[in-house]
Amino acid sequence: MDCLFCKIAHHEIPSLVVREDADTLAFLDINPRAAGHTVVIPKQHAATLLDVPREALGLFWQAVQATALQLHTVLQPDGFTIGVNQGRCAGQAVDHLHVHIIPRWEGDGGGSIHTVVNAPPTEELAKIHEKIVQSNPKS
Ligand code: AMP
Ligand code: ZN
Repeated sequence: MDCLFCKIAHHEIPSLVVREDADTLAFLDINPRAAGHTVVIPKQHAATLLDVPREALGLFWQAVQATALQLHTVLQPDGFTIGVNQGRCAGQAVDHLHVHIIPRWEGDGGGSIHTVVNAPPTEELAKIHEKIVQSNPKS
């Protein structure tokens, strides 16, 4: 498979590694939106969060936390935006799960996650809720 982040995970393509363990790699985004903008990936290929084996998820999110802690300690930002672009419509360009960790500072001019889309539903909230829980009651 021709996957850029698989190649980075296996060090076939160089990256500026921030943190690495047996299952995950965190490296600096090549096009940073802020100082220390880092992406964290599982080494095993999974296109999106929905494709990750359940047993691998715990270690992956622990790596996200450890990376954020490392950035917090060293760069001392005022906060973080931590998120995933999933699917082309949401801006996913690389089809290998990656969590963006973007350090934030007061006055950096950025917005919150709420600013990425503003398409409120026309359907009532309670109706949408009912649909969601009825179609998948055990998840
Ligand atoms: P996304 O739009 O969520 O799929 O984000 C993909 C991210 O990967 C972008 O922020 C890119 O700047 C970043 N990226 C692409 N190629 C590389 C690379 N070779 N090394 C580090 N980051 C990369
Ligand atoms: Zn991959």
